[in-house]
Amino acid sequence: MTDLPKEFRQQLAERFSNVTGSDVTGSIFTGKELQRHQSDDGTQKLLLEWLDGERTECVLLQDDRHHRTGCISTQIGCAMGCRFCASGMDGFVRNLSRGEILEQILRLNSLLPKEERLTHLVVMGIGEPVLNLDSLLPALDSATAADGLNVSVRRITVSTVGIPAGIRRLADYVTKNHKAYKLAVSLHAPNDELRSEIVPQNRHTGIETVMKAADDYFAVTGRRVTFEYTLIGGVNDQPLHIRQLAALLRHRNAVVNIIPLNPVPELPYRPPAGKMVRRFAEELSANGIQVKIRFRKGDKISAACGQLRRICR
Ligand code: SAH
Repeated sequence: MTDLPKEFRQQLAERFSNVTGSDVTGSIFTGKELQRHQSDDGTQKLLLEWLDGERTECVLLQDDRHHRTGCISTQIGCAMGCRFCASGMDGFVRNLSRGEILEQILRLNSLLPKEERLTHLVVMGIGEPVLNLDSLLPALDSATAADGLNVSVRRITVSTVGIPAGIRRLADYVTKNHKAYKLAVSLHAPNDELRSEIVPQNRHTGIETVMKAADDYFAVTGRRVTFEYTLIGGVNDQPLHIRQLAALLRHRNAVVNIIPLNPVPELPYRPPAGKMVRRFAEELSANGIQVKIRFRKGDKISAACGQLRRICR
């Protein structure tokens, strides 16, 4: 628009994204949908490319209880390097902006038929959410706005590897703004030695500090914390681990979410046998711990937990 003053055009260029690369002309989207995968269990996965050429994936999950769940990413790559997860295999590039996070939500919502909308959001895609709260929280504010998508605050879950300072910041924000999102903490091991091995971030924190931050989150929000436990064959599925996990959680008002490992071809870890999963869950529950098993969804299109990445397949 050469009829605008040059200086003004320069300011526009500095402050706004150039959306000519977008695949939806005239829309507010800045990304481009590179791939769409659909699985027969109703799961759909989008590979999006952002203006700088970087890519992320996001997933729509559907179940027969009318839950329509959007699973969104917060970063390009991930710096946490959990040994069994595909998302961090190529390291960390940058945070997603609030617009990029919101765009994933809107795009997933638009995959649904007109009469439906997203009922749940899980911040469980690529990246460590509490390291990008500056973008995530405003994006969730838009998703929960009554004149926006109007997703219920109670149906939003933020999952973290367990960074105490980040959990505290989140707790502070959600209490001040009356947005008690559900918190999920990726525990995966009941002792520091094993946890530091499979979740390297643990070397800087240790389980005790993570548990303390989770306890405080529960105390200020009143929302019970979920502890995710990816069950890895022969690694963290032994009777000793059940006893240690039960001891860690016995006096806490918590739920364990068991996620049978979803295999990543390049990584050496294997899923546990089906009967091990059941036994692990039964014995934990016999020890007075609340347990849920997260049934695998979308694994045929590599859209299950820990399988998201930033490449075309
Ligand atoms: N980075 C955040 C959000 C990811 S949520 C976090 O760590 O919580 C996805 C969950 O799936 C996490 O608990 C993650 O540790 C787990 N996960 C990673 N790789 C997996 C795999 N291969 N199979 C099953 N679960 C996996």
